[in-house]
Amino acid sequence: MENIKLLIVGSGPAGYTAAIYAGRANLSPVLIEGLQPGGQLTTTTEVENFPGFPEGVDANELMDNMRQQAERFGCDIRSATVVRTDLSQSPYHLWLDDESEITAESIIICTGASAKYLGLDDERKYMGQGVSACATCDGFFYRKKVVAVVGGGDTACEEATYLAGLASKVYLIVRKPYLRASQIMQERVFGNPKIEVLFETNTLGLYGENGVEGAHLIFRKGEADERTYDLPIDGFFLAIGHRPNSDAFRPWVKTDETGYILTEGDSPLTNVPGVFAAGDVADPHYRQAVVAAGSGAKAAIEAEKYLKQ
Ligand code: NDP
Repeated sequence: MENIKLLIVGSGPAGYTAAIYAGRANLSPVLIEGLQPGGQLTTTTEVENFPGFPEGVDANELMDNMRQQAERFGCDIRSATVVRTDLSQSPYHLWLDDESEITAESIIICTGASAKYLGLDDERKYMGQGVSACATCDGFFYRKKVVAVVGGGDTACEEATYLAGLASKVYLIVRKPYLRASQIMQERVFGNPKIEVLFETNTLGLYGENGVEGAHLIFRKGEADERTYDLPIDGFFLAIGHRPNSDAFRPWVKTDETGYILTEGDSPLTNVPGVFAAGDVADPHYRQAVVAAGSGAKAAIEAEKYLKQ
């Protein structure tokens, strides 16, 4: 069975940054790409808030560059997914989707989080062409335009408020007759003249010739006064929660109740010695590429320290 000194799981900004640092530290890292090579960023188009690119950068190009940089320092990148682990003792055991088994002395978990989608075919059809699950990433492209945000939690309210600073009008599509968000977030939404909350409303689909031009909505589904109508919009933002991709590492690695990996303070240290977590899988709050990259660097530095001991 192959024994790897340092295994990095995940190929978003956290994974590749950890790989660059670990490669430069001569740790011969192996990186398992996971289900979505390049990570969540590849679902967006242009990235304008990653430092170093004054004109912005294509998201796929950015991830390709990170990959090449990791390879330049000797990272062995493999196309596979970790499906199961046994982290009861070092070296740690991991099983891949082709059922092969490997062991690793140290692991950096950078498996990210996946935005939840409604499950509509149109979401896939218009992905990157009006559909987004990240207002901070894509909001800028909707300056003076009309957008809708789906969800009634803190994220949805935060994103609607953020987008209201850019767009001319923001609809908040909420399936219940009330918001789940905290009081202060609700007050921000209700106090913003640009935001209109559409309660008891669900999305049936999207339409448009060149990207999203509107949404098919249904009000009070199943009630006597059920009504369907079309709402013209330029952008459709999902804010119905994220799901951290930590299943393969549980129950060994401690998580919070929603599955985000718990680390010691601001460090990437998990409860398992030599196992570190970086990026969105351990970050329910910021979810930014540059933050993930920074935490990947921290994890590689900690892994180097651990392996030297
Ligand atoms: P939440 O789970 O709190 O809210 C998800 C929202 O999406 C709910 O309104 C839910 O509706 C709605 N929803 C879920 N599935 C669907 C669906 N299929 N169709 C339509 N609507 C749907 O997730 P958040 O991401 O908002 O928040 C996650 C955690 O992060 C929370 O604890 C939150 O407080 C925290 N957070 C805090 C922030 C802050 O303090 N600044 C900012 C952002 C998040 P329903 O209510 O009907 O279930």
